[in-house]
Amino acid sequence: MTVMESVFQRIDASKDAIIQLQRDLTARVALGPDNGGSGEHEKTGHIKRLLEDLKPDMIQEIKAPDERARDGYRPNLIARWEGRREKPVIWILSHSDIVPPGDLSLWNSDPYDVVVDGDRLVGRGVEDNQHGFVSSYLALKAILDSGQDLKRPVGLIIVADEETGSRFGLGYILQHYQSFFSPQDLIIVPDSGNQEGTMIEVSEKSMLWLKITVTGRQCHASTPDKGKNTLYGAARVIVSLADLNDRFDMSDPLFSPPRSTFAPTKKEENVPNINTIPGKDTFYVDCRILPHYPVDQVISAVRDIVTPIADETGLQIDLETVHRQDAAPPTSPDAPVVKALARAIRAVTGNQGKPMGIGGGTVAAFFRAAGLPAAVWSTCPDTAHQPNEYCRIPDMMTDAKIFACLYQDDYGRKPI
Ligand SMILES: [Zn+2]
Repeated sequence: MTVMESVFQRIDASKDAIIQLQRDLTARVALGPDNGGSGEHEKTGHIKRLLEDLKPDMIQEIKAPDERARDGYRPNLIARWEGRREKPVIWILSHSDIVPPGDLSLWNSDPYDVVVDGDRLVGRGVEDNQHGFVSSYLALKAILDSGQDLKRPVGLIIVADEETGSRFGLGYILQHYQSFFSPQDLIIVPDSGNQEGTMIEVSEKSMLWLKITVTGRQCHASTPDKGKNTLYGAARVIVSLADLNDRFDMSDPLFSPPRSTFAPTKKEENVPNINTIPGKDTFYVDCRILPHYPVDQVISAVRDIVTPIADETGLQIDLETVHRQDAAPPTSPDAPVVKALARAIRAVTGNQGKPMGIGGGTVAAFFRAAGLPAAVWSTCPDTAHQPNEYCRIPDMMTDAKIFACLYQDDYGRKPI
C-alpha cells in the first residue's frame, strides 16, 4: 500500500465524521448583518478549535471591524502547517457565512438541522461553503493522523462576509495581510463547481447592470398626439441594444457562452390602465462582458445607441449604472495551480479538468486583482442558495483525496 493509499483509506472511512462535522457547522448559524445576523463568530470559533487540534504552526484570527456585528468585528481565520519544502504554499479558502434559508415552506426540513438522506446531507450551508472546508480539513487530518509529514506548507483560510461583498472577509485580509501570500503560491477556492468535478474556473466576465429611464409625456390614449409615448422609445432602445452584439463580438472558448451578453431584463410598471399613454418607462439591462473589453467602452456604446433615439423621438433617455464589477485579470489556464489541480483530479477520478470562465463574480476575483493566481473548483451538485440545499458525502471524500494529492504533491496513484 502506498502512503497515499493509506490516506485515501482514512478518508473513505470518514463518513460518520463528515456527518458530524456538517451537523456541528450547520447548527452554528453564520449570518452577516446584511442578512439579518450578528456574524460568523460561533461557527468560526468551532472551526478554530478543530484546526488547533491539528497543531498548526501558525493560526491567527483576523478581526475585521464591523460595528453592526457581535463584539464589533467579523472573524476570519488563517492557519498554516509547514512542510518539508518551504514553498509554494497551497492555500484553500472557504467561507463561513451562509445566506438565509429564504421561504421556510419550501424546505422539507429544518435548514439548520442536517438531514442524512442516503449519500446526501441536506441543510443551509452544507454545500456553500461547508463542503469546501470539510474536504480541505479532512484531507489534512487524514495525512497528519497517518503520521506523515507534509511535503509542502498547507494553509487553510476561513473568511467571513463572502455572501455580502467580502469587505469584512477576503477584501480586509488582502488589504491588511497580503504579505501572507506570494504569487508563486497555489490558491484554490472550492466554492463553485460541477458534478463531474471537472470545471476549473480561472476567469470571470465583468458584470454591468444598467437602468434605462425613458421620460416623455403622459396623456389620454384617445389623443396620443398630445403626449410623448415612452413605450415607443423603450422598445426602440431594447431592440437597438442588439447592436452591442456586433460591436463586442469577440469570442473566447474559455467561457460558456463564449461571447459577451447584453440582456434586457426587468421592466418597471408604467401606467396601471390601458387607456393612458405612458409618460415614463424604466427597464434594466444585464451585461456580462468578456474581460478583454473595458466596461466603460460598453457604457459609451450604449450611450451611442440611446442618443440618436432620444433626438429622433424627443424623449429624454437617462442611463444609470446600478451595479458594476469589473473582471479581475484572469488566472492563466497554464498557471501552476491549474496544472496541479488537473493532475490531482486525474489521479483521483480519472477525469480531465478543464479551465473555464464564468459569467458571475466569485471571491477569487480578490486574489486575482491582487496579482495572486487562484482557481475556483469543487465537485458539487451546485445547489447553493436553494431551498433544501444539499451536498454529497462521496463528493466531499473525492475532493478530500484531491486535496491530499495536492498537499503532498503526489499524483502517483492510479485512477480509481
Ligand atoms: Zn459560497
